[in-house]
Amino acid sequence: MAYEAVIGLEIHVQLNCSSKMFCDCPNRPGDDPNTNICPICLWLPGTVPMFSIETIEKATLACLGLNCEIQPLSAFDQKVYYYPDLPKGFQLSQHHMPLAKGGYVEIIDENKKPKKLRLHHVHMEEDVAKLVHETEGRTPISLVDFNRAGTPLIEIVTEPCMHNPHDAMEFLKTLRREIRYTGSAECSMEQGTMRCDANISLRPEGSEELNTKVEIKNMNSIHNVGDAIAYEIKRQTESLNNGEPIVLHTRLWNPEKRITTAMRAKAEGPCVPDPAVSQIVVTDEWLKKIAARLPEMPNRKISRFVAQYGLMHDEAVQMSSEIELSAYFEAVVKSGPSPRTAASWISTQLIPAMKEQGYEFKDLSVTPAQFAGLISMLEKDKINSNSARVVLAKLFETSRTPEEIVEQFGFMQVSDMDALESIVKQVIEKNPSAVENYKNGNKKSTGFLIGQAMKLSKGKANPKRLQEIFKEKLI
Ligand SMILES: [Zn+2]
Repeated sequence: MAYEAVIGLEIHVQLNCSSKMFCDCPNRPGDDPNTNICPICLWLPGTVPMFSIETIEKATLACLGLNCEIQPLSAFDQKVYYYPDLPKGFQLSQHHMPLAKGGYVEIIDENKKPKKLRLHHVHMEEDVAKLVHETEGRTPISLVDFNRAGTPLIEIVTEPCMHNPHDAMEFLKTLRREIRYTGSAECSMEQGTMRCDANISLRPEGSEELNTKVEIKNMNSIHNVGDAIAYEIKRQTESLNNGEPIVLHTRLWNPEKRITTAMRAKAEGPCVPDPAVSQIVVTDEWLKKIAARLPEMPNRKISRFVAQYGLMHDEAVQMSSEIELSAYFEAVVKSGPSPRTAASWISTQLIPAMKEQGYEFKDLSVTPAQFAGLISMLEKDKINSNSARVVLAKLFETSRTPEEIVEQFGFMQVSDMDALESIVKQVIEKNPSAVENYKNGNKKSTGFLIGQAMKLSKGKANPKRLQEIFKEKLI
């Protein structure tokens, strides 16, 4: 029988608030264990949690970025369960009255068509402490670090609206981009600031029913999510074909063996309204103020980049993939070079060079004006693209202008026809067999001859003009 997979995702996103959710302790992952703690986030008896305004602001911004409807009234519940990382016995979460409902993320599906993937709701909750298991000593021990206890999270719950690993992966990539744009979170699965669980069930193709689902945890990259879903669809299909029913349970993804294995889930108790934290009332006026802080979101920006700068759609998508990158692109274009050359050089030269040297746009030392100067010289044929790459590498180390670097290192492109013709003449004289091959239609010899000419010019010749001269001379 042919089956259709039904996939829903639950994503925890750590908000980048300066403090924890219900106390003033700093929210600073990476600090020494148990240094950012107080009686409230140690969950000692008799303490009263005080909800932070920054949490509701950042959570609301993220929800607006995901096109959700912010609820005028939301409230916290105690999600009751006991686990060593939650010694107070309950987690403050919004079960009955979440901050936001609905919303969607628009992806491009496998047939290159836009598709809206719908959210069920988004709620806020506090994170639990972190367990560190040390197995190397004579006696294995488990340690608890409360730095993470009480830090602010949002949980995004989708409708069961996805049917293949591609859509799930595209959903996560787009969700990450949208939330990062709002400035509320970093959303890195590798660093644990975004965590994803997937619910997967199968049904006969054409059926509308929802069957028993299996939950998968422990996927720490978007690729892992895709691989785990693909594996789980295959595993469940085989089970059903063998007549084994699917039972509700949780599985862990093992990235080394690339399989999922069954695990015992935490026994969860009821969710009861919390008596200590006030209900949250969102007024229209406040919501308008927060909405005004929302930047131009990627889809709008993509359309504008196509209309305003004449970029191809794919180029506009790439120049809008990060808010800092899009600002950099626009600043470069403002200084003169053609937008398409700027986009192409940013994506094929600047970004790879930044990756190699460990830079991000927010700390990039090459200014948009420097980069624009470089592109402009290239466009005006003052330097060739080989020299431009060398100049770009030097721009990472200096605040001088690209013009000064070109001057100092003598990168100025030789476009003077007399000089180029004399170079071509020398190359033709020295390489009779390559010339013969060229005349016999061997295309590879053109590359060789131009290469020889470039070498003779110490890399400064204009390769386009060289090609023209070779053609003229050898016909
Ligand atoms: Zn605290």
